[in-house]
Amino acid sequence: MTVIAGRRTSSDIGRAVDLDLTNAWLVDPATGREGPGELVVRDGRIESIDWLAGDDARGIDDSGVVVAPGFVDLHAHLREPGNEAAETIASGLAAAAHGGFTTVCAMPNTTPPIDRAALVEAARAAAAASGSPVRLLQVGAVTAGRAGERLAALGELADAGVVAFSDDGSPVQSAELFRNALAYAGMLGLPVIDHPEDLTQTSGAEASDGLVATVLGLRGWPAAAEALAVARDIELLAEVRGDVPGARLHLTHLSTAASIEHVRRAKAAGLPVTCDVTPHHLALTDEWLAGARRWAWDALDGEGAARDPWRDHALEADPYDSSLRVNPPLRSAVDARACLDGLVDGTIDAIATDHAPHTQVDKDVEFGLARPGIAGIETALGLVLEAVDAGHLTLARAIEALTSGPVQALGTSREALRAPGLVEGAPADLVVFDRGARWTVRPDALMTRGWGGPLLGRSLPGTVLLTIAGGRLAYEDAASA
Ligand SMILES: [Zn+2]
Repeated sequence: MTVIAGRRTSSDIGRAVDLDLTNAWLVDPATGREGPGELVVRDGRIESIDWLAGDDARGIDDSGVVVAPGFVDLHAHLREPGNEAAETIASGLAAAAHGGFTTVCAMPNTTPPIDRAALVEAARAAAAASGSPVRLLQVGAVTAGRAGERLAALGELADAGVVAFSDDGSPVQSAELFRNALAYAGMLGLPVIDHPEDLTQTSGAEASDGLVATVLGLRGWPAAAEALAVARDIELLAEVRGDVPGARLHLTHLSTAASIEHVRRAKAAGLPVTCDVTPHHLALTDEWLAGARRWAWDALDGEGAARDPWRDHALEADPYDSSLRVNPPLRSAVDARACLDGLVDGTIDAIATDHAPHTQVDKDVEFGLARPGIAGIETALGLVLEAVDAGHLTLARAIEALTSGPVQALGTSREALRAPGLVEGAPADLVVFDRGARWTVRPDALMTRGWGGPLLGRSLPGTVLLTIAGGRLAYEDAASA
């Protein structure tokens, strides 16, 4: 029987936490250790951690209450300033806490884009005003106004505390500019995060090139559009690194087997490249656009090829659900498998949500007109646990990719990134979730302002019970309080 003492009400968000957890399964990626344990938090600090053995550990396994370091999201869109109807920094941080995240990297493609120190300060002030203890880390724009014409004031942004640079939402199309960005950011000790997309191949593209796009009459989005951009970025990194040893590249939301293979080879060659995958590219596939609702790993045949959802009679929902429009698009089951394999073998460093909320006006329209994006920060853990439950990923690797993986991708040169580990004496930065307790994704169960979503109505494993950021309460499950 698990006892969670010292529970607080939602009005206590931000207060220092006291907590006694017994009979829980602790996962600590910092030491590579997991097992039954007890954990005591007093006034926001981890007072003691006891790993249980023998009789004390009997009956405690990883199918119940799990305690892990708070998750770190490398990639989220909080929409403030400029589109507060879709999300605000406050609602985004609340959604993050509900998802188990205690650190969120906010992408700078707001209106205006975060390309000046004053805008970084404004975002930080909004986070402080929200009262949420979830840490907001700001990513600065690579180019001024994200216009892709000249570099933003990277030095000024670095001084203001950004943790990386990205024009996400778009790639940096000019190779020369991207080369300069890698060099300059490298000198500042920060990575460049690229959204790899060759725009010459994706104009008007709606769905991953293949059977589903063809049958549905949707404009195809070639895998090569991503792989080519990834290859270009890696080539530029290889050259820049000769002059700037600190240059680092992070490739976000990789979705194809070909681009993951490029990264695998670059890592083998010793290049400082890291990458992430989204939960939806791991668990969902393009056949969802046709109306299938099975997980990616169930959509492969015995030979490792994608099954035909029409022949399989796998269609159970209406086709053209615009909530599934996302950039990069949902791919085939073969590509999703490559993403899982890349995560398992370490080619992929992190799971990042690419949380991309939109208003109903922007999303509830014809498929090809819908703004791309899935507001997935609250369903990320559930999708990842589906892959774990299906036996395709260990719980430890999943937690690692949500904690130490993203921190390593950011690098340690930046101030005050909390070490994602269970450490006595340190401020508690934790997520507590019940792996066996399923919850149903409903609008009233979500904190995001984002409209709709492909998982609405679906039940997911892993109810988050408690999220503690920097010793303070960030989220508490009302039902279990
Ligand atoms: Zn992107």
